[in-house]
Amino acid sequence: MSYIACFDIGGTFIKYGVFNPKGKLLVKSKIATPKSHEIPDVLNNKVKSLQQDFHLTAIGISSCGLVDPEKGMILFSNNILGYSGMKLGELLFSLTQLPVSVENDVKSACLGEIWKGSIKDKRNAFFLTLGTGIGSSIVMDRKIVSGSSRFAGELGHTVIVVGGKPCSCGRKGCLEQYASTSALVQDYKVEAQQKGVAVKNVSGETIMDLVKQGEPVALAVYERFIHYISVGLTNVIHLLNPEKIIIGGGITEGDGPIIQDINLQLKNEVMDIYEKEDIVIASSLGNDAGLYGACYLALNRMNIKETV
Ligand SMILES: [Zn+2]
Repeated sequence: MSYIACFDIGGTFIKYGVFNPKGKLLVKSKIATPKSHEIPDVLNNKVKSLQQDFHLTAIGISSCGLVDPEKGMILFSNNILGYSGMKLGELLFSLTQLPVSVENDVKSACLGEIWKGSIKDKRNAFFLTLGTGIGSSIVMDRKIVSGSSRFAGELGHTVIVVGGKPCSCGRKGCLEQYASTSALVQDYKVEAQQKGVAVKNVSGETIMDLVKQGEPVALAVYERFIHYISVGLTNVIHLLNPEKIIIGGGITEGDGPIIQDINLQLKNEVMDIYEKEDIVIASSLGNDAGLYGACYLALNRMNIKETV
């Protein structure tokens, strides 16, 4: 049997795994992301070691940053220094002699969810991940909407507070500045300082723990966070009328209240003509969604038609 090696390259870790041609994830692990110029060699070494156990026929890559999948190139990345402009597909092909597909990590994760995850039986959906920023994709008729130059679906850079907080994109008041995990953490730090509460090693996950414990600063910040996400998602529902909205990212995992609280808020915000019964659902593939999407694209590149 032939197998696919998949990598999900992020700013901190590179996750990797081996799939069979039916899309079953057989083994997975992760390594620390090396310096950008070392990435092709590190991936090649990992491929070589996987080849001792598996007959690999293709490589699928899900990567942070702006990606040109046709050229297998990283157009821009602000997560990994010196990564922008790397022709990763070409470099890895020359080292391994295996076909390589490369796609952006949010799109890969969304494809993974369409193929094997939470929206595998849905035609129209909206996918978002909460992290440093907000990544999002529109799914119409089981395909990701690209737009005229592949940039469709940037919910994070839609303005929800006119004249609000400055954003990395140059505008003010983008959703990303209010409803990403980084925004939650930042908001908590500011509020805690104002209230004289000591802050150390705070992350989205630790804030969610404080919310569960009923800590007042965390609760106040969390309430605003849920409000902003819900305003953003109400816009999505009114604009696209998706069957489901799927949310991924570290803080949505586990048994936290986020998904349920957003659904409650949406019931008040969304117009009555729309179906709004638990429209928001959690990612079912979680952290592995990018690997599944990378596998799907690698199989398609080899013309092993696994239809979504
Ligand atoms: Zn912005």
